[in-house]
Amino acid sequence: MAQYDVIVIGAGPGGYVAAIRAAQLGLKTACVEGRETLGGTCLNVGCIPSKALLHASHQLHEAEHNFAKMGLKGKSPSVDWDQMKAYKGEVVEGNTKGIEFLFKKNKVDWLKGWGSIPEAGKVKVGDEVHEAKNIIVASGSEPSSIPGVEIDENLVVSSTGALDLPKIPKKMVVIGAGVIGLELGSVYQRLGTEVTVVEYLDKITPGMDGDIQKNFQRMLKKQGLKFVMSAAVQKVETTKTKAKVTYKLLKKDTEETLDADVVLVATGRKPFTDGLGLEALGVELSPRGQIKTNAHWETNVKGIYAIGDAIDGPMLAHKAEDEGMAAAECIAGKHGHVNYDVIPGVIYTTPEVASVGKTEEQLKEEGRAYKVGKFPFMGNARAKAVHQGEGFVKLLADAETDRILGCHIIGPAAGDLIHEICVGMEFGASAEDIALTCHAHPTFSEAVREAALACGDGAIHA
Ligand code: FAD
Repeated sequence: MAQYDVIVIGAGPGGYVAAIRAAQLGLKTACVEGRETLGGTCLNVGCIPSKALLHASHQLHEAEHNFAKMGLKGKSPSVDWDQMKAYKGEVVEGNTKGIEFLFKKNKVDWLKGWGSIPEAGKVKVGDEVHEAKNIIVASGSEPSSIPGVEIDENLVVSSTGALDLPKIPKKMVVIGAGVIGLELGSVYQRLGTEVTVVEYLDKITPGMDGDIQKNFQRMLKKQGLKFVMSAAVQKVETTKTKAKVTYKLLKKDTEETLDADVVLVATGRKPFTDGLGLEALGVELSPRGQIKTNAHWETNVKGIYAIGDAIDGPMLAHKAEDEGMAAAECIAGKHGHVNYDVIPGVIYTTPEVASVGKTEEQLKEEGRAYKVGKFPFMGNARAKAVHQGEGFVKLLADAETDRILGCHIIGPAAGDLIHEICVGMEFGASAEDIALTCHAHPTFSEAVREAALACGDGAIHA
């Protein structure tokens, strides 16, 4: 029986980062993973393969829509779907192998197989039981569906199936206008699929700033995505080759149908804790199945910790990673910390969408006095030069102290630009601090500075 200071269950971004950090802090560490490869949902069937397909399909879009304008003429590239999937596979493999290398480098033992916790201090993998002073559960999440809709990963697919369709469908219905539905919907729309997104609410990307929601939907529509809003999907029926989606229009109270070759169910994800034995151990779960933890990511059972998608909070890889590092640090007797107020969210469509901190709607609800600095990418020379002048930066700052409260960006490289504001928020920056910082010209970042200037005496190029 092997003895460890820490055994992490699950090698997604939460688990593998926790294991590496624990080992770096001198703790004897193992990580259990049931999949064939490391990296969890994110690397295998989430963030990374979706970004590979978004990248490839974006290149096609550029070739079809912008190359000729720049004097690059000739036949548009045709799509070899199998080759595109092979490219995606290579990207995934490169990343998962990278984690294997990091485990070896940091002397983290990879225990291959599905793990369970027969009692506190013990982890069973296959027939072997290992002892661990501390256990970190990082078992992640799985797709969830809605009543009347059964995912068969054939005609009715989750994101996992959508990343690996045998052929590009002619018609796709996406149920749910959240991040995953819109990213994958965009991929297929660019590849020539007629994509209709059916959403229960009257706005896309629930929880995002209203300005972003409105403009993002308008831009996606312009690209060709269709939307049916305020529509409750009742059921999905399938024949051998076709699917039919029945939905109820909430405002009219009428039932309508849509035919599709593939239906993507993107209605959210739920914590995955099957087979761990948590109930028998008495580990408390929330009604939504999330593992409950204290401020140090420890559950109500001493020595058992939990992080990532399996616990409360945004289901994001970087949130899981931060919790992984922090939990390992707490176990090592240090002061692990995650600032949940400054966790950026990014949608990797074109244009990208990024957001951190409070939305304008939240500030209104809190009754907080705020000011808005907004700057359109049309006023940014670099964005215009690369045909990405759509969108804006919206900065929210406290009306009195000028302290930055939130930032919402839709436009080129939004997912990278947002981090300037994240760092600023961590340092308690004011909008003026950003406005007084020299930004190189011509960069997209100048739009962030201009939005900060707009919180004060005014932007220059608006
Ligand atoms: P996971 O990544 O789910 O990893 C958990 C691992 O634990 C799995 O490999 C599982 O096999 C293993 N496991 C579970 N139980 C056991 C057991 N008993 N024994 C052994 N192993 C076990 N987030 C972003 O931040 N950015 C994005 O761009 C992004 N894109 C996404 C796109 C898609 C299509 C999807 C589905 C998700 C995306 N996400 C994205 C979300 C992101 O993937 C998750 O938030 C992240 O993977 C959560 O990390 P985790 O470590 O908590 O769990």
